[in-house]
Amino acid sequence: MRSMKSQQQHGRTKALNTEEIQQRFIAFLRQRGHRVTQERLHVLSAALQRTDHFTADELYQSMLQHGWHVARATVYSTLELLTECGILVQHHFGRGARYELADKLPEHDHLICTQCGHIVEFQEKILRDIQQKISESLGFVPLKHSFQIFAVCSDPQHCSHKEHSHQK
Ligand SMILES: [Zn+2]
Ligand SMILES: [Zn+2]
Repeated sequence: MRSMKSQQQHGRTKALNTEEIQQRFIAFLRQRGHRVTQERLHVLSAALQRTDHFTADELYQSMLQHGWHVARATVYSTLELLTECGILVQHHFGRGARYELADKLPEHDHLICTQCGHIVEFQEKILRDIQQKISESLGFVPLKHSFQIFAVCSDPQHCSHKEHSHQK
């Protein structure tokens, strides 16, 4: 299994064009008849700074810490809009929705520890092959897939440590 850290040659992770993404979001809001507000753009800016898989509440808390006062409901609704717009992807790892940048490449899948919530990203070529093979055999053109492994940490000490830090 290859971890994300050894896959930096793909490079698109770093070339995040925040200006272009903001313009895309503004165009999306106008097209859908939503108001373009500073609060919504602040939520976008905060989301673009994340490299992890975050919950709406985690983003809300980090925005408060940075002195950005946005209503909690605005954070939640804006994350939904950013997902519809294709800027974020929403994951369901078993503890509520988590978000991640859609442009965060390389394409990867996730393994989640059901005990402590630790999330590991991995790439496995065979999953892409399966996506291709199944789609073709059923007469489709594959676009993307979502594959999650639910597991438990093999090292109990590592696992309980993580759980502690997650519970705060
Ligand atoms: Zn991920
Ligand atoms: Zn664990």
